[in-house]
Parts: sequence; structure tokens; C-alpha cells
Amino acid sequence: MLSMERAQRPKPSPEKATLLPMHYLQQTSIDCPWCGEIFDTTIDTSQGDHEHIEDCAVCCRPISVSVECEPGEIFSIQSGRP
Ligand SMILES: [Zn+2]
Repeated sequence: MLSMERAQRPKPSPEKATLLPMHYLQQTSIDCPWCGEIFDTTIDTSQGDHEHIEDCAVCCRPISVSVECEPGEIFSIQSGRP
């Protein structure tokens, strides 16, 4: 007697393949070199060490953010005037 149950394999969930590597996005805070306010920002650590320009959340002036990181971990972060 043949059992059809053997043909039923658990299928991999299609959602798993499309999951974003959220742990690459690290929440941190930087201080604005213009107005001195500290605000939260999210760093994409998947690209490793990098520098980018980000507008201050308080005074909207551009901040040069230089990040030392590995995917998933921030080692240091520095903000300055571009
Ligand atoms: Zn500011």
C-alpha cells in the first residue's frame, strides 16, 4: 500500500528568502556639529567603513558622518562639518 504522505515535504517559506537583514541596520545617536543636539539615526553597517552626509534632524544642516563598522556592529562613529 502506497502512502501519499511521503511525497509531502515541508516547503521553504518564501518569506524567509525575502527577509531583510535587519541586524545590519544599527540604531545609534550622533551629535550635530552645528547646533550640538543629539539625535537618533540608523546606520547601514552592511557596507563596512564608510562616510556619508546626513541632515541634522534638529537644524537640518548637513553633517558628515564617518562610520567604522563591520556588518552588524558599529565600532566608532564621528560627526563633523562637511
Ligand atoms: Zn543640528
